[in-house]
Amino acid sequence: MLSMALLLCTQICFGWGQNGHRITAQICYDNLSKKAKRQIDSILGDEFLTQVATWPDFIRSEKNWDFAKDWHHVTINPGQTAEEVLKASKSTDTIDNVLEAIEFMQSILRGDKTAIAKMEALMKKNGVTPLGGSTQATAIAFLVHFIGDVHQPMHVGKDGDFGGNSISVLFFNERTNLHSVWDEAIIQQEQLSFTEFAEFVNKHQFSHKQEWEEDKLTEWAMESVEYRDSIYATLYTSTDKSTGLPSLSYQYQHDYVTVVEARLGAGGYRAAQIFNSIYK
Ligand SMILES: [Zn+2]
Repeated sequence: MLSMALLLCTQICFGWGQNGHRITAQICYDNLSKKAKRQIDSILGDEFLTQVATWPDFIRSEKNWDFAKDWHHVTINPGQTAEEVLKASKSTDTIDNVLEAIEFMQSILRGDKTAIAKMEALMKKNGVTPLGGSTQATAIAFLVHFIGDVHQPMHVGKDGDFGGNSISVLFFNERTNLHSVWDEAIIQQEQLSFTEFAEFVNKHQFSHKQEWEEDKLTEWAMESVEYRDSIYATLYTSTDKSTGLPSLSYQYQHDYVTVVEARLGAGGYRAAQIFNSIYK
């Protein structure tokens, strides 16, 4: 049933595109402890972590799942900190952004009865079924997905920027928007499968493993803020003469593919650390 749902889904992507989320999930899986791997495999049944990692985007086309649509991103305006934003969102009853959603999914997987009851009540009230009929599987899919999202710099927006969705750009002469460039285009441009891409990330990025380990959720988001600001600062370095749009091409790909690799690597590795601490 789940496989069917995955197959039938559209090409519309939010957050890292499908391959971005699969790369994060692959890196996560490669860095799981034996015990965590066993637990996750058994909860997911006949699905791979790399498959379910894209499910949270697929369900965004289902109206009944609208209650979860704000869980993929967060707004952190200039001058704000992630701590302030998280504190404010936790003071409400709803799950308001990706930071809170990551904490919420962790609580569910750690067996917090209040969180489990809250999630199950939300799904019941909105008439949706959990992934594979399991609240735990649902939380695993959301958690690996959202940790990916918070590492995508265009998912940590500021007021009015719509995560770069409203900014038209040319990417190798094709008109698209800045959000899509970061979700998908830079990754697709490399023309690698998600497993090949994950291998490259392992090779190029894993000297950073130790620094990634020491960071916490709010710092991951602030790293994205820093990248976001530098993406905006360099956006008009090269423009198209006839349209005036930013023209992003080989130089842009060259400059930023390492950032994409680093964010996918950090996301995958940190997701593994979290799962390892849950399934001790
Ligand atoms: Zn997402």
